[in-house]
Amino acid sequence: MVLAAGLCANCGLCCDGSLFGTVEIVEEDADRLHDLGVVLTPCEDDNYDFDQPCPMLKGTRCTIYAQRPETCSDFRCPTLRELDAGEIALDVAQARVATVRAMFADLAKHDPRSYQQLRAQWADDRLAGADAMATALLNLGIESINRYLDRHFRRGEERVYADPDDLKISS
Ligand code: SF4
Ligand code: SF4
Repeated sequence: MVLAAGLCANCGLCCDGSLFGTVEIVEEDADRLHDLGVVLTPCEDDNYDFDQPCPMLKGTRCTIYAQRPETCSDFRCPTLRELDAGEIALDVAQARVATVRAMFADLAKHDPRSYQQLRAQWADDRLAGADAMATALLNLGIESINRYLDRHFRRGEERVYADPDDLKISS
């Protein structure tokens, strides 16, 4: 648990839009989230969802941690699971988060848009541009990040390459 806190409090990838576009919550959590100021949209099965980046995230920390929805408290990415199981050390898990940040920074050298914005366009029809080489590098960068996040941070059914049209977290 201490190890998890040391990892998650300085990560936030499952809250800032890097892994998911929306968070689906169960009906029982809706009133509480609404009262806390989260804008909810009705979706399937009487559930609700809200967009990421989550408005309750400050820096890399959840500001409503004790009141966060069940979907969030249930979510444990593969890296966190491996850490909890003793399969990797904390510094290895933290290095993975740092690698993602470095990949984002590298992408920003080629395009001012965020990874989240670029990924949305990439999912529609890959990225296009006048400069063929620059465009190819950008698409390669997005795909590299997608694969890294799929491998270390998204669970099976949430992976981009498993279902590119549905980047949604649900319980
Ligand atoms: S992506 Fe994983 S390591 Fe990062 S905050 Fe979420 S659960 Fe924790
Ligand atoms: S409610 Fe908290 S844990 Fe859930 S997505 Fe928002 S910041 Fe993350």
